[in-house]
Amino acid sequence: MASLKTIKNDAILHAKRIVIKIGSSLIINNKTGNLDNQWMDALAENIDFLIKNKKELLVVTSGAIALGKNELNLNKQSLKLHEKQACAATGQILLAKGWKEVFEKLGLKCAQILVGHSDLETRRSAMNARITLNTLLKLETIPVINENDTIATIEIRYGDNDQLAGRIAHLVGADLVILLSDIDGLYSSDPNRSDKAEFISEVNEINEDIEQMAKNTKSLMASGGMTTKIKAAKIALSGGCSLIISKGSKVGGLLKLIEGGKCTLFKATESPQNARKKWITSHRNKDKNIIIDGGAAKALRSGNSLLPAGVINSSENFKRGETIEIISENKNIIGCGISAYDSDEIKQIAGNNSKKIIELLGYKGRDEIIHHDDMVIDKIK
Ligand code: GLU
Repeated sequence: MASLKTIKNDAILHAKRIVIKIGSSLIINNKTGNLDNQWMDALAENIDFLIKNKKELLVVTSGAIALGKNELNLNKQSLKLHEKQACAATGQILLAKGWKEVFEKLGLKCAQILVGHSDLETRRSAMNARITLNTLLKLETIPVINENDTIATIEIRYGDNDQLAGRIAHLVGADLVILLSDIDGLYSSDPNRSDKAEFISEVNEINEDIEQMAKNTKSLMASGGMTTKIKAAKIALSGGCSLIISKGSKVGGLLKLIEGGKCTLFKATESPQNARKKWITSHRNKDKNIIIDGGAAKALRSGNSLLPAGVINSSENFKRGETIEIISENKNIIGCGISAYDSDEIKQIAGNNSKKIIELLGYKGRDEIIHHDDMVIDKIK
């Protein structure tokens, strides 16, 4: 690998958790239709470098449909939905194998996560996805993520991995998304058509002008188009996560970016933690609640999670993943948070030690009813 010693891109330098999205046109050798191993090896080495610099990495990778098309010799231009799904199913196995092999050479572990739109947009399953991704990162394993294209129909798909990457970043509270693309960033108009096209290196707000610029660059090669990249940026920014668009088509594209190369940065104005707290507060259900004892109220205010032992009762109307109010036994509202259990389960485990959850519910759930990270404590008035 080139002698990479320091990170010169500020957004990368300061990020702790990074989602890298790789488009099909980068990962596939357009002559053979197979994975471009040289390109993947170089990228994996750069990912390894970032991990050694204490970053947590998640990879959102396209390529399943294109690889499957090649494998199944379905070379016609427009495929029917069921043919595309067959390609996705065939190609995904090759894609996962490719990533496993490149990471293994470097002693890195990886894991495959396939998600559908409803998995991330339904609270209960989004919570499960979040916990799985966080667990993998804790276990120093790189999540390799793609949309589950094999059964999703057009209406219920993200359809492009740009937006999927934004959504994943939002879900796991990442600080940065890098969209590695076949263009180097956002231009005021199509640089192939106009000499006056200006390169935009930083965007602080996605307004109508920026959206118009994205439409103007439609004719460029970028697979999802610039419009999907702007949509991805909006999703990321709403989660307090910055987003970079950068060219990754040549071997060493990520390396160049790390070394301070050209890119467009969409800069988040708040931290992922603050954005998450705002999101939790805005989803607060005033008619769904949990009643806790004085000891638990004190523990929550000093930054602890809510355990079953401190719970007295709850309302009967919520499911795991919903945001409920936390109320003390003397009717003070303590805050709100995302419940890891259905209300009928809480009634069964209330007042008990977490160790008894398995005996009472028949399965070993989380120790916490509301984890500290999923909670917002109101200021005492
Ligand atoms: N999920 C699709 C695939 O793996 C790609 C979607 C995209 O390119 O954005 O082929």
